[in-house]
Amino acid sequence: MRKPIIAGNWKMHKGIEETRQLLRELKDMEMSPEIEVVVCPPFTSLSEAAELLVGTAIGLGAQNMHWERSGAYTGEVSPCMLKEIGCKYVIIGHSERRQYFGETDEMVNFKVKSAFNHDLIPIVCVGENLEQRKNGETKSLVTNQVKKALEGLTEKQVERIVIAYEPIWAIGTGVSAKGEDANEVIKLIRDIIAGDFGKDISQKVRIQYGGSVKPGNIKEFMEQPEIDGALVGGASLKAVDFGAIVNYKK
Ligand code: PEP
Repeated sequence: MRKPIIAGNWKMHKGIEETRQLLRELKDMEMSPEIEVVVCPPFTSLSEAAELLVGTAIGLGAQNMHWERSGAYTGEVSPCMLKEIGCKYVIIGHSERRQYFGETDEMVNFKVKSAFNHDLIPIVCVGENLEQRKNGETKSLVTNQVKKALEGLTEKQVERIVIAYEPIWAIGTGVSAKGEDANEVIKLIRDIIAGDFGKDISQKVRIQYGGSVKPGNIKEFMEQPEIDGALVGGASLKAVDFGAIVNYKK
């Protein structure tokens, strides 16, 4: 049985004071123990978040990292730094990083390998844009992204990875995918992993859906057999919404 994981990607929101506020509110909420809950604040709020989350069941993740341990990479943050702060997860290859910061599949693969080498669990984002969807390229594009991201990993690493299928046209638009459509692509991702690493491994990998997930539609995704949680952007910025997403069964 895969434990579902719901992660909040705060993007470039929430300075230290706002982080304190949001986490205080989340800590006051009762969260479903059936779900693994993770928050991913911006770098500058990570250490504050780490302190506030001590003793809670909420895990900490970062939104990006460089693949090197240290070096002359101005403006970058290394996996060792994230580990030292207390991160367990790191989002890799979010479409906004691919789109605005030129992250390639090769860079994503470097980062995924480096995350594992530093005992961080990558949440790897894949997904097509609207044009690719209209051109019927979703399956080939996602196949390519998944295969490249996982290239050179061991079976032990692959079984711990989290993949987020995030159709770009659904991110921040208020237009989410249909549960069944997302399930179909996520099944494809699981089949790709089964082909490359074996069925047993593929059955252990948690694959989330992301893209305009809200309290009103989370159930539709969580009811799908292949979907193991969600990566939530906008709706993770308010405790009441994120709490309602995590507690969607109530
Ligand atoms: C995201 O940033 O990963 C995301 C899914 O954003 P939103 O939920 O706002 O669409």
